[in-house]
Amino acid sequence: MINFQYARAADVADAVRQIAADPKAKFIAGGTNLIDLMKEDVERPTLLIDISRLPLKTVEETAGGGLRIGALVPNFDLAYHPLIEKRYPLLASAILAGASQQLRNMASTGGNLLQRTRCAYFYDTATPCNKREPGSGCSAIKGLNRIHAILGASDACIATHPSDMCVALVALDAKVHVTGPAGARAIAFADFHRLPGDTPQIDTSLRPNEIVTAVELPAKGFAKNYSYLKIRDRLSYAFALVSIAAALEIEGGKIKEARLALGGVAHKPWRDPAAEAALRGQAANEAAFTRAADALLRDAKGYEHNTFKIELARRGIVRTLTQAARGTPQSQSSKKIA
Ligand SMILES: Cc1cc2nc3c(=O)[nH]c(=O)nc-3n(C[C@H](O)[C@H](O)[C@H](O)COP(=O)(O)OP(=O)(O)OC[C@H]3O[C@@H](n4cnc5c(N)ncnc54)[C@H](O)[C@@H]3O)c2cc1C
Ligand code: SF4
Repeated sequence: MINFQYARAADVADAVRQIAADPKAKFIAGGTNLIDLMKEDVERPTLLIDISRLPLKTVEETAGGGLRIGALVPNFDLAYHPLIEKRYPLLASAILAGASQQLRNMASTGGNLLQRTRCAYFYDTATPCNKREPGSGCSAIKGLNRIHAILGASDACIATHPSDMCVALVALDAKVHVTGPAGARAIAFADFHRLPGDTPQIDTSLRPNEIVTAVELPAKGFAKNYSYLKIRDRLSYAFALVSIAAALEIEGGKIKEARLALGGVAHKPWRDPAAEAALRGQAANEAAFTRAADALLRDAKGYEHNTFKIELARRGIVRTLTQAARGTPQSQSSKKIA
């Protein structure tokens, strides 16, 4: 039995004060990842600061025409929010491709960003893992690495970020709003998650004692030409081997703007400006989509059991861009159950 304290945060300032007072404290929102990690003895917080009752559960329109999503909006509510369904269906599709209805009811927007890798060695405290125990080694590099990274990995860690929602958010150019002892700041979504380098234990650019308060979407939602494709070992309740978020703005048969992001392939949701540049100004056809896939995967590297992901990603990119261009997105995985 490992003891820990539990406290409720009264407001955001109180949450920041409490976490700054105890270096081993952790916030808990929906608890769908943190509690599992505590049960497996991977996380050992001395204090759980319950932020689930903070008033961060609204979706509000911003002056710039976008939306501000509170960090505690549950994944279920967000996916079925009328403004998200209408203006950002790419985000709704990505959320609905993740987890299960029950989990999406509990999982929060902020918690989804901060969920940890699904590398089996990270969860197995009997094996070396640099992310769990810095300096102990990486069991996956020469071990079972079927689900691991093909882009941006390092000699210290080849884990992937497991979120679906974050793949859509990076494609949509979202921003993460955070508050800490030094005040509030906003982080571009593409800079929020980091590559492992020599410090794979650090997943994000969130500073110690900062809380995520909101995610902001810009006005542009690509509601006409988008698709989110998730390829996994079984159709539900499984993390992505590869997932692809594609969004296009097409004028007169030519691509005016393109967004392309991948999940399940790197330590962070992967977006590559070179692949998007390869699409801009081109006719929306298979040749252009293949060139974009080649650009995105130019530095891809497989390990013993996951080389198949490179070709899977290549074909997935072409298919998802084709669906986006035709306006026939991959169908959502779940129907709303009242
Ligand atoms: C069986 C299973 C299958 C799943 N399948 C998928 C899937 O297919 N796709 C997918 O995307 N996800 C999947 N998930 C993950 C799920 O989406 C996440 O567990 C969930 O989004 C985490 O949100 P939470 O509110 O429960 O976070 P918690 O578990 O409460 O917290 C997670 C982490 O975030 C921190 N945190 C939470 N909120 C904040 C905040 N506002 N500011 C700062 N830190 C914060 C906590 O301290 C903790 O470290 C699955 C989970 C399970 C258990
Ligand atoms: S890939 Fe990363 S999380 Fe997995 S064992 Fe290696 S260091 Fe740990």
